[in-house]
Amino acid sequence: MARSIFSQPQFNDEAAAYAYVEARLWPDGPICPHCGVIGKAGKLSGKTDRIGSYKCYACRKKFSVKVGTIFESSHIAMRDWLTAIHLLCSSKKGISANQLSRTLGITLKSAWFVAHRIREAMRDGALAPLGGEGKTIEADETYIGNIRGAPKRHRNVQHKNMVLTLVERGGSARSFHIDGKAISDVMPIIRENVAHESRINTDEAKHYYDVGKEYAAHETVNHAREEYARKDGARLISTNTVEGYYSIFKRGMKGVYQHCGERHLHRYLAEFDFRYSNRARLGIDDQARAERALSGIVGKRLTYRVSLGAGGE
Ligand SMILES: [Zn+2]
Repeated sequence: MARSIFSQPQFNDEAAAYAYVEARLWPDGPICPHCGVIGKAGKLSGKTDRIGSYKCYACRKKFSVKVGTIFESSHIAMRDWLTAIHLLCSSKKGISANQLSRTLGITLKSAWFVAHRIREAMRDGALAPLGGEGKTIEADETYIGNIRGAPKRHRNVQHKNMVLTLVERGGSARSFHIDGKAISDVMPIIRENVAHESRINTDEAKHYYDVGKEYAAHETVNHAREEYARKDGARLISTNTVEGYYSIFKRGMKGVYQHCGERHLHRYLAEFDFRYSNRARLGIDDQARAERALSGIVGKRLTYRVSLGAGGE
C-alpha cells in the first residue's frame, strides 16, 4: 500500500522542510536578499543559529529562504507551511481555517493567516490574455454572498457580489469580483483578458453583446429558454464548462468558506482559479500542483501586507 504523502520528510522534519523549499527557490545556490549575490553564502549551524540560516560572504549579512516570501516574519514552522500548501492544493473545494487549525495544531487566527497567504501565492499575475486562434472562451457571471450592510430581508441579486469568470476550454480559468456589480465593468475585463482571435460563448445577457463583436465569433445559448448547449456542425456552443467551474466554487464556498467577506472574495477566487487551471485533467497531480503554488510564494509578501491587513473573518 502506498504510504501517505504526508509521511515524506518535508512534512515532518524542519530541516528537511527548509531543504525542500531551498532546492526549489535556489536551484543555483542560496540567493542573498540583501545584495543579490548567488551561491556565495554559508549555512550557519551553530547552537544558537536557527534552521535555515545563511550568512552572505559578500555582504556579511544573515538571511534565510523565507525572506521576501509569504513565509517571512511568520512563526509557523516550515513543515506546517508545506503541509498547509499541500492540503489547499489537493482538496477540490478548499479547506476551512478551522480544519487547518486542527490538522496543524495552530491557532485559528494563524490558520486563517496561513491560508490567505497561500491564496496570495496562488494568485496568478499572468497578464497574457486567455484564448487565441481556434480557442473558445466561455464567459459567465454568478452572484455570491451578501454585500455588507444590505438589508436582511428582501435580499436579491442587487445585494450580492458579482463574480465574472472566463474559462478557456481545455485551459485556465480567470475570475473577477465585480465591485458594485457594475455591468459596464464586464466589457473592459473581457477585452483585456481574452485574445481577440478567440471565439466567445456566453448566455444571452446584454453586457456581452457589444464586446462580443470584437471577437472572431460570439455565440450564445438561451438559458431563459433552457437551452444549455447546441451543436453547430462540429462545434459545441455552450457555457457548460464555466458552469462546471461555478458548481465547484459554490459548493466550496457554501461548505467550507461560509463566512467569506467581500473584502477577501478575490483571494478565494484566486484559489479556485488556481486549482482549476492546474487540474488533474491537464496532467497536474496534487504534488505538482503544490509545487506550482510553492513557486508563487516569492514577491507576494508586500502585496499581502498592503492589502490583507489584520483581523480575520
Ligand atoms: Zn549579501
